[in-house]
Amino acid sequence: MTSPIRWVAFSLGLVLLIPASAVRGQEIVPGKDWHPKLPDLPQAGTPREGRAPEFDIAAWEARRYRGLSNWPPAEANLPVDAVHYDLNLTFGLADTTITGTATITLVWGGDPGNILHLDLVGLTTTAVKKPNGGPCPYFQDADGIDITVNPAPLPGDTVRVAIDYHGHPTRSFYVTPSASYTFTEPDGSRAWFPCRDVPWDKATLALHGRVPSGKTLVSNGVLESTSSAGGFVTYHWREDHPLATYLMAAAISAYSQITAPSPVTPLGWYVYPGHVSVAAASFQNLAAMIAFYDTSLAPYPFDKYVMCEANFGGGMEHQTATLMGEGIVTGGSANEWITAHELAHQWFGDYVTMADWRHIWLNEGFATFYEAVWQENFYGPAKFAQRMQSYEANMESWWATHPTDYPILDPPPGQLFSWIEYYKAGWVLRMLRDLVGKPSFDTAVRNYLSAHAFGNARTADFQAAVESQYGAALDWFFDQWVVSGTGRPQLAYVPVYTQIASGWLVQLDIRQVQTSPTTYRLPLEVRITTTAGVTTPSAWVEERHQVLGFPVSSEPLAVMLDPENKILGEMIPGSPTGVDVAPPPAALRAFPNPFRGAVRLQTFPAATPGMVEMFDVSGHKLRELPLAPGEISVVWDGRDETGRAAPPGAYFLRLRGRGTAVRVIRLEGR
Ligand SMILES: [Zn+2]
Repeated sequence: MTSPIRWVAFSLGLVLLIPASAVRGQEIVPGKDWHPKLPDLPQAGTPREGRAPEFDIAAWEARRYRGLSNWPPAEANLPVDAVHYDLNLTFGLADTTITGTATITLVWGGDPGNILHLDLVGLTTTAVKKPNGGPCPYFQDADGIDITVNPAPLPGDTVRVAIDYHGHPTRSFYVTPSASYTFTEPDGSRAWFPCRDVPWDKATLALHGRVPSGKTLVSNGVLESTSSAGGFVTYHWREDHPLATYLMAAAISAYSQITAPSPVTPLGWYVYPGHVSVAAASFQNLAAMIAFYDTSLAPYPFDKYVMCEANFGGGMEHQTATLMGEGIVTGGSANEWITAHELAHQWFGDYVTMADWRHIWLNEGFATFYEAVWQENFYGPAKFAQRMQSYEANMESWWATHPTDYPILDPPPGQLFSWIEYYKAGWVLRMLRDLVGKPSFDTAVRNYLSAHAFGNARTADFQAAVESQYGAALDWFFDQWVVSGTGRPQLAYVPVYTQIASGWLVQLDIRQVQTSPTTYRLPLEVRITTTAGVTTPSAWVEERHQVLGFPVSSEPLAVMLDPENKILGEMIPGSPTGVDVAPPPAALRAFPNPFRGAVRLQTFPAATPGMVEMFDVSGHKLRELPLAPGEISVVWDGRDETGRAAPPGAYFLRLRGRGTAVRVIRLEGR
C-alpha cells in the first residue's frame, strides 16, 4: 500500500552518515515500529576515531566483482581449493599491526603449473616455506603473493605453505579505545591474512591470537585453550565448520563475558563491562530466537553463538561470533530486530553462503525477512505486518531518491549492500511464501539449507527448492521480482458498480502505471464492502491494462485493493469524480493464454446480453458462446459447433453486444 509520508523524511543519506551513537540517542521515533535503518554493513563515510579509511566497495567491484561471474567453476578447473587456515598472529593494539604466520592447507586443482596465488594486500611477506620443508620462492605485488611450489603438485595433491608476514593493515583491522576488531565483508580478509578471498572457497580455521593481558580475543568456533606469557595472552580458537573468508574474524576488548542458558548451543555475548546490564535487557530474547530458528530452519549448525560488542554501526554476522555495534546495546528491545537479523545470517550466509556476490540477496534478503518471521512467531502476525510495512516504507523512500533501478540479482557496482538487497528482497520472500503457501515455503527453505549445508548456493538453487514444493515452474515470479524485473507494481484503479439482474457487479479498471518496463503478474485480493457485509475475492493481475469483474449480491459501498498489504507496490485509487468513473471501454480477456484444454473468456461491461465468437485464422467461425446479462465470463472448451476439437493454433475472439473488442488466443496441443 501507499507508504506513510512520515517514513520518507528519513532519507538514506541521512541515516547512513550518522554514527551509531547518534542513532541510539535519536529521539525522533516515527511510531511504535521504529526502524532505524541501519543496514548491517560498514557505514561508508562514517567518521570514526582511530579507524582506517573505509573500503571503497565501488572501486573494488569495478575491478574484481564483475569478473567473478563463472561460479561454480568445475571442481577440476579450480586452480586450488583452500581447506584450512591456521593463523598464528600477534595483534598489535598500540601500533595497529599484525605479525605472524599463516599456514594454509590447499588441495591442488586441475590448473597446470606450480604457482599458488594468494590474495594479500598492504602487508609484507618475509618468508614462505613448506612446513618441515625448505623455503618456497615467492613474488609479492600489490594484489597478493605468487608462491612457487616445488615439486609441481598433481591434481588432488594436498599442499601446505607457511607464510611469515607483518605490517599495518590498510583496512579490515580497526584499533579503537573501546574495542579492536576485524571487519572484512566483502573482500577485506586479504588485508589481515593471505587467503583465497572468495566466498565460494570455504575452509576451516584455527586462530591463535596474541593480545595484551587484560584483553579478551573472540573468534570463530570453539575456544580450545588460552596461554599467558610475558604480559600477553594467546587465545586458541578453532572453527571446524568451513567458513568463507569474509566470515573469519577477531574481536578484542576488555570484555565481560555473559552466558545465556540455551539447550541449542553455548550462547552469550561479550560486552563492555559497563554494558552488562543493558546488554542483558537488549539480548533477553536471544535464547528464544535461536530456539525458534533451530526448530524452524535447521538445527543450529555450529558449536557456539556469541555477539561481540564493538564501536561501529550495525552488525556483522561472523560465523558463530557476530560483531554487534555498540549503538545496538541500548537496554531496550527497540533494536532486537538486528539481533534476529544477525542470528538468521548464521543459516543464511554462514551455513549456506551465496555462491558469489551477485547473489547477495540470498544473504541479506533472507536475514531481513527472518527478522520479520521471528517477530511473527514471537509477537504475533500483527507485528509481522508492521515489520513488512516498515520495509515497504523504506523501499518507497529509496525509490523516491533513486530514479534508476536495477534487479535484485547481480546489483551494479557500488550497490552490493543497497536496500534493494535487504528490504525489497525481504518482501520478495514474503510474497513467495504467500504464493506457494507457508508449509510449502518452510519445507522448501529447509530443503534448500540442507542441500547446500556448509557450502554455497545460487538464486537458481533456491528457486529449484521452492519449485519442487510448489509443483510448477516459478520462472515468471523470479524473473519479475529477482532476475530482471525492476521497481514495483503501481496499480491505478477505478471501481465501477453496476446493477445487474442477479445483484451488482463490481468492475475494476486496473492499469499498471509503473515506469519500470516490468509488467507484473500478481494475485490481487480485493475487499468489497456492500450493504450486506464484506467479501474478499481475488484475481490475477497480469496485464498493463485489464478489467476485473466481481459479482456481489448487495449494493457495493467501497473497494480496497490488497487490504492486507501482501504486495510490495502502490495501489492508487482513481478520482471519484470526472472521467474516471465513466465505464471503461469494452474489454475481452482470456486466461490462460496460451491455453490447453479450456480457456476462460471474461468480458466487460456486463449489464447487457453479449456474445463471444471464435474464428480461426482463415476467418471461419468455429463457435459462439452467449453471455446473459450480468454474466461476465464463459469457458470455451476448445471445440467447434459440432463438438470437434480445434487443432492447435491461433484463434480470434470477437465480443458483440457489449461494445466491440477483439483478442487473439492461442491453443496449444492437448
Ligand atoms: Zn545482514
